[in-house]
Amino acid sequence: MIVMKFGGTSVESGDAIARLAGIVNSYLAQQPVVVVSAMGKTTNQLLEFARHARLGDIYLSSKCLDELQDHHFEVAGQVAKGDALHRLETSLRRSFRDLRVILFEVADEGREVTSALLDEIASFGERMSSEIVATALESSGVTSVLLDARDMILTDSHHTQASPLYWESYARLRRVIPYLSDGRVVVMGGFIGATEDGVTTTLGRGGSDLTASIVGAGISADEIQIWTDVDGMLTCDPRVLQGGYRLQSLSYEEAAALAASGAKVLHPDTVTPAIRQRIPLVIRNSRRPEVEGTRITAAAPRCSNPVKAIACKPDLTVLEIRPKDERSPEELAMALGEMCERYGTPAEFLCQNNGTIFLAVKGSALYQNLPIEVDGCVEVRLHPRSAILTLVGEGIGGSPETAMRASVALKGIPVTILSNSRSKLTMSLLVPSAEMRRSVEMMHREFFQQIDPAVFAECQEPGFQSRQPLSTFTEPGETAARTGTARRFRPLTIVNQN
Ligand code: ADP
Ligand code: ASP
Ligand code: MG
Repeated sequence: MIVMKFGGTSVESGDAIARLAGIVNSYLAQQPVVVVSAMGKTTNQLLEFARHARLGDIYLSSKCLDELQDHHFEVAGQVAKGDALHRLETSLRRSFRDLRVILFEVADEGREVTSALLDEIASFGERMSSEIVATALESSGVTSVLLDARDMILTDSHHTQASPLYWESYARLRRVIPYLSDGRVVVMGGFIGATEDGVTTTLGRGGSDLTASIVGAGISADEIQIWTDVDGMLTCDPRVLQGGYRLQSLSYEEAAALAASGAKVLHPDTVTPAIRQRIPLVIRNSRRPEVEGTRITAAAPRCSNPVKAIACKPDLTVLEIRPKDERSPEELAMALGEMCERYGTPAEFLCQNNGTIFLAVKGSALYQNLPIEVDGCVEVRLHPRSAILTLVGEGIGGSPETAMRASVALKGIPVTILSNSRSKLTMSLLVPSAEMRRSVEMMHREFFQQIDPAVFAECQEPGFQSRQPLSTFTEPGETAARTGTARRFRPLTIVNQN
């Protein structure tokens, strides 16, 4: 058996779902289980709808719902006919009626928008897309069966960011799916789950990849395919810099490091369930199924390039923290990580570098929510408007050579090298946000001038530009805001704040 996960763009329209049906059809011999995301940007729209309702704005909230409903009905009409369409429309109508009830309860009756309610609202996206896809598969002649993910994926009750209860979920999946999939394609929504009491939860944004991987591990699949809108894992984020190469292969550790460092094509936890049984994960382009994609396995082939890819996180505030007492940096790093969790301000980056801790949080206002409540004294320096680039590759190997090449290549850009003593696979660079694109381009030029053809492939996606000269990536008016240099630091000492 295999798992095939299709992301938002791969189910966004009637045409996209027709392509999905064609792809699934070509894998029937491998007994696919299909996991789908909500259509297009549905999750964003549902959460917007909740936001407007909370503000009491019935007009905007119901406008959001009307647009969403029209789109779902339009796609349903494109993928199904006759009785199947009638049944699908009846069910979609029921979902939108339920959403409207929530809208009135929130906007008119003051129902509180708790994180549990947000999960309930967001879950409609995957519940509806999975129904549409199951019906579309049937209409294209593929026998399919719809499974409610909430009956399979058990989680804790940490709403909007729930952690799966892996073993309980595996046990259910193992019991149910082989039985259901006898001659049928099982279709289920990603991203959603439920607590043991049956309350709907979600696994965090982008969580459908994680669902696919849990399902894969639960049924001991031969392969987990992640179908998306790019050719695979590329050497850089195509939204930041076009013209990157496609990686043909990666190790689990490299893929996990890239995902955690900002490569959105994979949810950061996707790799974990696959590792134990060594199930290959393959990233494929649903618009170009002829491309082989990126294969992620336990051992990546040897590669003559030390760096495999560059991931980046923009718009960060980075706190540079030095312990002033005898508390070990490791202890302090752990305390800070736990504190971020507690205050719901996820640490986007946390590393310990020669006794100094670098902690990054998203945006600029958030860090103020982060009271430094570690006892003892710490000295904090602030790097606002920063970005972190992370170079990933088994060849980095903690050697100073990569750091040296990076700092020479980034001449003229204020950069702090954050080589994480705990990771031999990664090296991170702190640069001003305004210099992020230029830095990625410079790093790309430095580390991918010559590529190992056994690992990298040209990416010929239509619309992809070839590698551009540097000047193309320097935005007009962008200056090197030297926010990361000591001169611009805002030194602040926080002593026993609580
Ligand atoms: P899906 O809806 O299929 O889950 P996502 O939008 O979550 O798709 O992930 C795919 C996107 O990830 C791509 O369109 C691309 O913009 C982004 N991305 C970021 N870094 C990379 C990378 N290194 N390689 C490929 N895609 C990347
Ligand atoms: N629909 C969810 C989101 O937009 C989950 C996913 O797409 O993976 O975050
Ligand atoms: Mg995704």
